[in-house]
Amino acid sequence: MGTYDVVIMGAGPAGLTAGIYASRARLSVAIIERMAPGGQAATTIRIDNYPGFPDGIEGPELMARMEQQARKFGAEMIPAEVQSIGQAAAGAARFTVSTTGGEIGARAIIVATGTREKPLGVPGEQEFRGRGVSYCATCDGAFFRDKKVAVIGGGDSAVTEAIFLTRLASSVTVIHRRDALRANKYLQEKAMANPKLRFLWDTVVTSIDGAGQVERLGVRNVKTGEASSVEADGVFVYIGFLPNTAFLGGLVNLDAAGYVVADDMMRTPVEGIFVAGDVRSKQLRQVATAVGDGAVAAVSVERYLTGTL
Ligand code: NAP
Repeated sequence: MGTYDVVIMGAGPAGLTAGIYASRARLSVAIIERMAPGGQAATTIRIDNYPGFPDGIEGPELMARMEQQARKFGAEMIPAEVQSIGQAAAGAARFTVSTTGGEIGARAIIVATGTREKPLGVPGEQEFRGRGVSYCATCDGAFFRDKKVAVIGGGDSAVTEAIFLTRLASSVTVIHRRDALRANKYLQEKAMANPKLRFLWDTVVTSIDGAGQVERLGVRNVKTGEASSVEADGVFVYIGFLPNTAFLGGLVNLDAAGYVVADDMMRTPVEGIFVAGDVRSKQLRQVATAVGDGAVAAVSVERYLTGTL
């Protein structure tokens, strides 16, 4: 499939921004994405804190604009999944990227593969996936119009999506394992002011049950130990994410949680491999920080390729 100055893995905010900057720097750029471009940001109904949009912007629209901008400057989008990265001996391309669509040569690489949803790991979760169990309210919320849903988790994602679901579902119950939300204060205030949201504190889900589709959740209060059940037609799991790094093998350093470690120029210890966005080991995972990472990674690649980094 040819050789590129830089192969960017992942077309979320970090990858697309890197694509915009690298293409504008007149590098040849391929962005490999296994799903639809846009990453997780494209599955978020509304993004309220991305600067420049005081009334918020829908995630799919923001990401479609980023993709359009990357393509406009010349980035090529390749729909495939990266399987592994090989380091070539001396030659034109320093790396060979194996993908489900074939091999691609790369002089430099930006890993921007983001994260995937963390599963709950309770009985019924796999069985009812797509039959009441979902990890994407934007994608599946409409199936639960005027029905009862539960949202698991207490972070920004759980609360954002629970608020969104109140527009569709007849009732939304947030089930959180502690008695305080992790979500930011702004979201907490919005959630507490929403009459359709109900909170079940100090509670963990022990099973997802039903006949053919989700009907109820088995739950347990972690303080009293009391077990009970919650009626729900749908359950949205938002308990955090896991980094997408399997294809990296042992090539780069990972932190204890499995995220890729890099310096502030997005360099990994492997010359020519850079990282950007949620897959990077860092404190804050937001569209704004992913965009910043992507810009820095692209400039680092440009400097690396011209011997000025
Ligand atoms: P998160 O911040 O890691 O929160 C995960 C939540 O799930 C926590 O409340 C956690 O409980 C709970 N949890 C974790 N494992 C669990 C388990 N096994 N069983 C039950 N509950 C469990 O994840 P997130 O909310 O998806 O956010 C990820 C990143 O994206 C964050 O950096 C966040 O700021 C960002 N984000 C931002 C926005 C926004 O700004 N609007 C929107 C979405 C995401 P504990 O609190 O007890 O640990």
